[in-house]
Amino acid sequence: MGNPTEINSVYWDEKTKSWQYKVVPVEEYHGYTECQHCRRPMSHNIKSEGEFKVVYVKCGCARE
Ligand SMILES: [Zn+2]
Repeated sequence: MGNPTEINSVYWDEKTKSWQYKVVPVEEYHGYTECQHCRRPMSHNIKSEGEFKVVYVKCGCARE
């Protein structure tokens, strides 16, 4: 599996009180943390737009 070039991240939006999605470009990929339940990626460590950050995604058991 190759490194992703972009990730559809999810974040909680306080204004709308709902989950929002945002596609973030990936400059460097540094691995992920997996969900303890479904073993799928839950957060990714990346460099995006010149900054290191952790972005969250919806794992397999958290879909709505
Ligand atoms: Zn899960």
